[in-house]
Amino acid sequence: MTKKTRTKNAPGWGDATKLVRGGLERTPFGETSEALFLNSGFVYDAPETAEKRFMGEDDGYVYGRYGNPTVSMFEERLALLEGAEACYAVASGMAAVFGALACQLKAGDHIVSSKALFGSCYQVITNILPRFGITHTLVDGADLDAWAAAMRPETKCVFLETPSNPTLDLVDLGAVAEIAKRAGTLVVVDNIFATPILQKPLNFGADVIVYSGTKHIDGQGRVLGGAIVSTRKFKEEMLKPFLRHTGPSISPFNAWVLLKGMETLKLRVEAQSLSALTVAQHLQATKVVSRALYPHLESHPQYALAKKQMSLGGTMVTFEVEGGKEKAFDVLRNLKVIDISNNLGDAKSLMTHPASTTHRNIGPEARAMMGITDGMLRLSVGLEDIKDILDDVKQALAD
Ligand SMILES: *Cc1c(COP(=O)(O)O)cnc(C)c1O
Repeated sequence: MTKKTRTKNAPGWGDATKLVRGGLERTPFGETSEALFLNSGFVYDAPETAEKRFMGEDDGYVYGRYGNPTVSMFEERLALLEGAEACYAVASGMAAVFGALACQLKAGDHIVSSKALFGSCYQVITNILPRFGITHTLVDGADLDAWAAAMRPETKCVFLETPSNPTLDLVDLGAVAEIAKRAGTLVVVDNIFATPILQKPLNFGADVIVYSGTKHIDGQGRVLGGAIVSTRKFKEEMLKPFLRHTGPSISPFNAWVLLKGMETLKLRVEAQSLSALTVAQHLQATKVVSRALYPHLESHPQYALAKKQMSLGGTMVTFEVEGGKEKAFDVLRNLKVIDISNNLGDAKSLMTHPASTTHRNIGPEARAMMGITDGMLRLSVGLEDIKDILDDVKQALAD
């Protein structure tokens, strides 16, 4: 077998360099771009080689459900960016959320989670895991006493989203990690809204981080994907035995798209975040807008924490219009540039009405508990000229 050449990952690299070069492994053809290995299986030069690979004594690939060279490059690039030992790529963000939880939990275990959650995360914790005898307590993510009070001897894991989808509530990562450490539980962070560019939960004591590659990492509306970032021990002892046999593998093609998406991730997230702040400032000063939520607006109830945890405020802005669902739908209908879409983190600006889409399924009571109102709209700010985004928002909001 011909040897592939791995380019060196330098320890001192900055994020932009890691995003472009991290994990790159070239074939003997010397291709510039990362190669796409679109194969499901692998062949061996001898039966002994196959046996050794299955015994784990030879670290070559055995089967697409277990691993793939393109997928490995994506995993290594993301681990490097995060400053983590390991990463496991999966088919979607929800496969990452479910995998990160289910791999470590069993009947009788208990989870403590912040209550402000993406609709599907809420379903996993409150509907799906309970079917397997895994109980939960939902807490107000900003209430540190509530986090501490919810810990029980059988609590195995803490789950949280910060900022949350769509209310942009924050959780103090350092403080919750400390409470969890005292209780002897792991902290799993859904860092999808913040992205690995703006917030690095490992620096605050988190143990496991989940991503949807579908959002900012692709950022161009093409593929689904997800990833779980962790220690090597967690990957080897928890993730591999669970994920290899349950099969939520990412397609090599999707991993390749995400790998290429990472090259521009920092540029996109920073530019989109700067535009998002401008849009949030405008919305805050608009009469029909009763509330504008953005982590780096001084009016955000957790502004100080947002400044401490996030280098920029993110690409998402949530706001509430007076006049409830009817007015919110009017705003959506009026849009000329921004698309109506529940996706996010895209180069194209996208707006959705969470109560009738992403958070429709969870019902009115759960929405009320999370603070999701009928007049609430969520805007994912894209890469268009800021003037065009602002003009569109302004005309859509005009009475
Ligand atoms: C979109 C999203 C997910 C799920 O990601 P998919 O790739 O759509 O499965 C999980 N958490 C949050 C906060 C999200 O926004």
